[in-house]
Parts: sequence; C-alpha cells; structure tokens
Amino acid sequence: MKPPPVKYARAGDVAEAVALLTEHGSDAKVLAGGQSLIPLMNFRLARPSVLIDINRAAGLDGIRVENGSLVIGAMARQRDVETSDVAAGAVPLLPQVLRHVGHVTNRNRGTVGGSLAHADPAAELPALVTGLGGELLVQGPGGSRLVAAEDYFLGTFTTAMEFDEVLTGVRLPRLPAGTGVAVEELARRHGDFAIVATMAAIHLAADGTVDLVRLAASGVASVPVRLHGAEAVLAGIAPTAEAIDAAAETVAGSIKPTGDVHAPADYRRDMAGLLVRRALRTAIQRTEVAA
Ligand SMILES: Cc1cc2nc3c(=O)[nH]c(=O)nc-3n(C[C@H](O)[C@H](O)[C@H](O)COP(=O)(O)OP(=O)(O)OC[C@H]3O[C@@H](n4cnc5c(N)ncnc54)[C@H](O)[C@@H]3O)c2cc1C
Repeated sequence: MKPPPVKYARAGDVAEAVALLTEHGSDAKVLAGGQSLIPLMNFRLARPSVLIDINRAAGLDGIRVENGSLVIGAMARQRDVETSDVAAGAVPLLPQVLRHVGHVTNRNRGTVGGSLAHADPAAELPALVTGLGGELLVQGPGGSRLVAAEDYFLGTFTTAMEFDEVLTGVRLPRLPAGTGVAVEELARRHGDFAIVATMAAIHLAADGTVDLVRLAASGVASVPVRLHGAEAVLAGIAPTAEAIDAAAETVAGSIKPTGDVHAPADYRRDMAGLLVRRALRTAIQRTEVAA
C-alpha cells in the first residue's frame, strides 16, 4: 500500500523543525527514519497532514561522551550506535540491545530518537533508557528541557513531548568499567518485536558485592519498566543464586502486562521473571572485578 497524500517540508535545523510544527499544528509529524511512521501511514493508522523531515537537520547525529554521560543525537541511526566504539565503551548494553531491534536494514534507517519518540511499549531502546535512568533532550518554542525517562514515557505511543517539540537526543549515564550486561528476549522470530524483553547491567565491588544494578523490561506494561524492586533485593549483597531468585520473584509485582494476540498477560508475567533471572545470571558472569 502507498501512504495517503501528504505535504512535505524539510527542516534545516531543529529551530526550523519547531517553527514548522508550530505553524502546522498537531496534524504535522516529524519524519526521522520512517521505519514506524511510513508503515503506519501505509496502513492508514496515521494520517499526518504534513511530514517535517529532519533527516538533514544539522547537529542531530552525534555520539559522544560528555561529563560522564553518553549523549546520542536523536537522528543517530540505530546501526551507527550499535557499531560505535564510543557507545559500546560507555554503555555496553547498547550494542546488545540494538541487535534485537528489527533487522539490519531497519536499523540502517531507523533512528534512536525515532524509537524513543514512537514509544512502543515492546521496544527495546525505551526500556534501556528507562532502566539506566537516562534523560531525554527535548526542544520546543520555549527552549530546551531535559526529561527523566520515567517521566517521559506516559503510555502506549505516548510521551511527555508536546506536539510542537522535537526530541533532540538522549543522555545516558556511563557504566563503570567491568560492568556485566545482558539482554534476554522472547520474540516469535528473529527481527520481530519482543513479546517480553529484559535487560540487566551489574557491577561488583572488590569484595564481590553488588554496587550497581540496573534492570528493565519491555512488553510488560504500557510503558517500559525499570525493575526497582528487583534492583533493591540485590543492592549491596553478594549476587548468589538465591539472591538472583529472590530478585526475579519480585518482578511479577512490578509489572502490569496485558494480553494480546501474541501472549496472555499471565504468560508475559511469568516470562518476565524467568528472563530477568537469565539476564542477571549472564550479566554477573560477564562482570570483571577491578584488580
Ligand atoms: C520490520 C520492522 C521490525 C521492527 N522491529 C523492531 C523491534 O524489534 N524493536 C523495536 O524497538 N523497533 C522495531 N521496529 C521499529 C524501528 O525501531 C523504528 O526505527 C523506530 O520505531 C522508529 O524510528 P524511525 O527513526 O524510523 O522513526 P519514524 O518512523 O520516522 O518516526 C516514528 C515516530 O516518532 C516521531 N519522531 C521521530 N523522530 C522524532 C524526533 N526527533 N522528535 C519528535 N518526534 C519524532 C515521528 O513523528 C513518528 O511519530 C521495527 C520496524 C520494522 C519496519
């Protein structure tokens, strides 16, 4: 199918994109990699009156470390982040997570900002940003603002961004050297959206106790979920098999899955606990304690 007729405008920079959004109102849509928006238009599930193309907007594609954080521009292609040494060095969870996002062809076009603006509750990147306590950089007519991930994702396909705002980037805290990371995901086929995805980052102190743990899941609620309860179980103690089991057992109480054609709610709830257990075990095996 072809998309319905739509006007097209190209923004040379973020200020121009904001001005165009303000001019055209809430029927206008930003066009990034088009990997979600164009299929939605083809199926007539989205009917924007104007597409505001930010593919050539200056300064939106950087991947850099700044003041202890990894800063990724909204238009950085998912594949460029997946293969970036800077991104892998600062947040080694990123390349692992991105390998689960669709297929390489989607990631060649799809952008980090597009995934975070689209806010699909099954998507991996929103869960990573939520789990790591990241912040979203948003620019509108009144200037720029930083929004904490847990305040940004409001519901299925809904974020705290206003219609006249553009997501310009994301800021992720750098993980300490030696952090073990793992992603465990259940999907019907390679490249499909996850039914449930979980991810873990864990760092051990010299005495073998946990001094940093971040856990997140997608596909288990209308928003990506940081698993604070499971993190609290492990913080400050040795990550024994019993401790991992105790952490995984808290997961069911932290999520609100709904059933759909892919899986009933109870199945998602059970899978989330099981996948968190697996992700924790693998992440712990991958930790390196500083000499
Ligand atoms: C076959 C296939 C499989 C896929 N599998 C997965 C998967 O397993 N996991 C997964 O997470 N994703 C998956 N995706 C979606 C993919 O990750 C998309 O790239 C992503 O959701 C959207 O990014 P985009 O750059 O293509 O954005 P677009 O499609 O251009 O835009 C998506 C939405 O975000 C808005 N938007 C985009 N950028 C901005 C911005 N900077 N500021 C404000 N609003 C903005 C647009 O207006 C639109 O509403 C898949 C896609 C396909 C086609």
